[in-house]
Amino acid sequence: MRRGFFMRYAEVAVDAPTGRGRTFSYAVPEGMDLRAGHLVEAPFGARRVQGIVFALADASQVAETKEIGAVVFEDAPLDDTRLRLAEWISEYYICSLFEAAAPMLPAGGRARARTLLTLADGVAPDAADAPDVDAPDADGLTPFQQRVVGYIARRGATGAQQDRLIRALGDRALASVNSLVRRGVVRREYSLRGPSVRHRYRAQISIAADRRAEVDEWLRDGKQRAPKQRALLERLRDGGNGVAMDGTAARKEYGGAVRALLNKGWLAEESVAVERDPLDGREFSRKPPPRLTERQAQIAAAIRAGLSDPSGRRTFVIQGVTGSGKTEVYLDAAQHCVETGRRVIALVPEIALTYQTIERFAARFEGRVAVLHSGLSDGERFDQWWKIRRGDYDIVIGSRSAVFAPLPDVGLIVVDEEHEWTYKQHDAAPRYHARDVALRLSELTGAAVALGSASPDVATYYGGLRRRHSLHLLTERFVDGEGDGGAADGGRRELPPVSVVDMRAELREGNSDMFSRELADALDECLAAGNQAMLFLNRRGTAAYLQCFGCGYSLRCRRCDVNVTYHAKEGRFICHYCGARRRPTQMCPQCLGYRMRYYGIGTEAVADEVARRYPDAGVLRWDRDIAGSPKAHESLLRRFRSGEARALVGTQMIAKGLHFPQVTLVGVVSADVGLSIPDYRAGERAFQLLYQVAGRAGRGRDEGRAIVQTFQPDNYAIQAAAAQDYQAFYTREMAHRREQGNPPHAKLIRLLRTHTNQAQCESDAMDLAARLRERQAEWGYADVDVLGPVPAYPMRLRGRYRWHIILRGQTPRGLLDGVDTPRGWVVDVDPVALT
Ligand code: ADP
Ligand code: ZN
Repeated sequence: MRRGFFMRYAEVAVDAPTGRGRTFSYAVPEGMDLRAGHLVEAPFGARRVQGIVFALADASQVAETKEIGAVVFEDAPLDDTRLRLAEWISEYYICSLFEAAAPMLPAGGRARARTLLTLADGVAPDAADAPDVDAPDADGLTPFQQRVVGYIARRGATGAQQDRLIRALGDRALASVNSLVRRGVVRREYSLRGPSVRHRYRAQISIAADRRAEVDEWLRDGKQRAPKQRALLERLRDGGNGVAMDGTAARKEYGGAVRALLNKGWLAEESVAVERDPLDGREFSRKPPPRLTERQAQIAAAIRAGLSDPSGRRTFVIQGVTGSGKTEVYLDAAQHCVETGRRVIALVPEIALTYQTIERFAARFEGRVAVLHSGLSDGERFDQWWKIRRGDYDIVIGSRSAVFAPLPDVGLIVVDEEHEWTYKQHDAAPRYHARDVALRLSELTGAAVALGSASPDVATYYGGLRRRHSLHLLTERFVDGEGDGGAADGGRRELPPVSVVDMRAELREGNSDMFSRELADALDECLAAGNQAMLFLNRRGTAAYLQCFGCGYSLRCRRCDVNVTYHAKEGRFICHYCGARRRPTQMCPQCLGYRMRYYGIGTEAVADEVARRYPDAGVLRWDRDIAGSPKAHESLLRRFRSGEARALVGTQMIAKGLHFPQVTLVGVVSADVGLSIPDYRAGERAFQLLYQVAGRAGRGRDEGRAIVQTFQPDNYAIQAAAAQDYQAFYTREMAHRREQGNPPHAKLIRLLRTHTNQAQCESDAMDLAARLRERQAEWGYADVDVLGPVPAYPMRLRGRYRWHIILRGQTPRGLLDGVDTPRGWVVDVDPVALT
């Protein structure tokens, strides 16, 4: 065997814009213990970046390689399964390999690279005073370049961050910076901020193990000395069990007694890593698992079989109305999975809205459940991440990113409310769908997947009907054995009657109130009887928009191409896309007349109206304006549940999974918001919302009803939701989809160009579309439609114009092979919305 020089190489996915699936070869320094899955720092061009090792090899792809700089965490964050998962995400969602793997890194472990610009020595900072003549100055700089130099000069010696400069001056600033760097006027440097996370510690005191006998004796002798010390020792002794206490809290309560006892050696103080658990301080009533009903047991048995035989079908779709016992089935499957030594990932659409589900998992698997919660600090999340990685938990619950939890031996993945749109990440790469990642993870690990919903995503249901998934129905709400037609909670079993009110007819007959006569009467009756009502409207604020009665001008956001919404409490118009605020105006900026009118309503207006009509009822409002934290949400729900308030007004957030037995009336003030958005999924979205909302009424003993107000009473989505008829909706929806060649009959990829300059945005979009069509002619992807380019909706967002191209067909991905989408384009595979 040859000894001596033996070079090893690593294939590293770097944190830089690179094509999908791309790695770079680096030499491994002598003595560095490097494995696949390690997070490293490495030079890349002029900068230093983070990278993830995907493979080790004895040869390099290229003649010259640089060396890896450092290993970030001693333990490799990614295991083999996650490396394969990242490869799939990079290919499927068309993003760089590092982007694909980044959500699998320890929380806060990713260090962001910064690009800093400073003026080169000798460049006069007085270039900041750009002359207003439209000509190059003495150094040959154009006026725009002078503005760039001025911006950098104002940041002084610390320099300007390149991305901030581009945000401030627009996208064309990048080309200017590049040319200024080439000419030596501006210097560009890169820095990498290390991970910001570390373990946090706190002091904890307890009775020193070797002094217990002495302490016991001293406490027993009964002499009345040092009462504080006595009290503290009694407490820590806890009748012989011995408990620990937080050092800071103990010092606050017992003052000098702590120091005295530490000096005596009776107390020991140690520092322990702080690992705050979001379930801390909550009490769970531990109930034994219930006996499953026959239907539930059949489904549970099917999943158990899937768990023990990974060669069969492993994806189970459970379609069951709320209250039919889906969660009991998940719990049974989870228990079986844990008993066979494997672990469970449970995904919920949104933590704050699913406490009831989380609590049931926590109660069943006490102490073995990790909740991934945004309320945790980076440090806390970091600690929890490594504990999960070590296998300290059997169950991890969280929203979509929990699918990336580093749980070893995953045997089951539950996706509750699988139709929810929050499972798709749309605002940053990787633009993944957690359910589809879960299905891929199942292929890699043999894990079973349970997808539950009362109204599955039509694509999921289609997969079930085509027998790609195993489809199970739970058609009835759970009913207690000796019940009288009531559900588990003593409530009713039938779904409430839903009526649809045609608001056009109301207008024709002279009622222009926000409430139809039917809804107004029902509200009177409900509140007079001492019951509770929920009113639903998918728009926040007071008035939808402000429009000039004279010339038709409507007040718009300065940065987005949308109307701004009035919020009376703040006295401001707010853009619901970017949050920008504007003052109300009485004079029309366009025709200078004084005929501005408020149109449309929002939740704030509805809540005010209810309060005006029923001053004693007590009205709560729940929407994003109010929603601060999960705590705020919980306290609001508590107030409603206690009956302190009898009307709850909110956006779709109140439609989710909540259970209030006293609610006998649900009113949808306007079912139309969102229906007319140019999107092939608008119908599905409307159906999902209304279906859930209507299901909120009549969950208790008293009969309930739901009233849906709409200007489109004939719309199939509204009708099917009112009839609580999923099948009817599915049939109609699938017919449309087939006719138009939309998913699930085809795949969509959306290419979105955004730019601060409108003409540039449009011409870039034209260019790319032309190139794609050329490629199509050349390679023949006859089955793929290249749609567009067309302006997206809204056409301008946060100051950036937006144009998009949609690829639709069986294999739209193939058309993108070898066409690299240039900087500034967003690629969204399987977009959940085309707006
Ligand atoms: P879903 O998840 O479909 O909304 P749940 O699992 O929450 O339904 O069930 C609704 C209620 O009925 C819960 O309180 C649950 O504990 C109860 N329940 C469901 N199935 C059973 C059963 N087999 N035995 C006892 N209680 C049950
Ligand atoms: Zn805006």
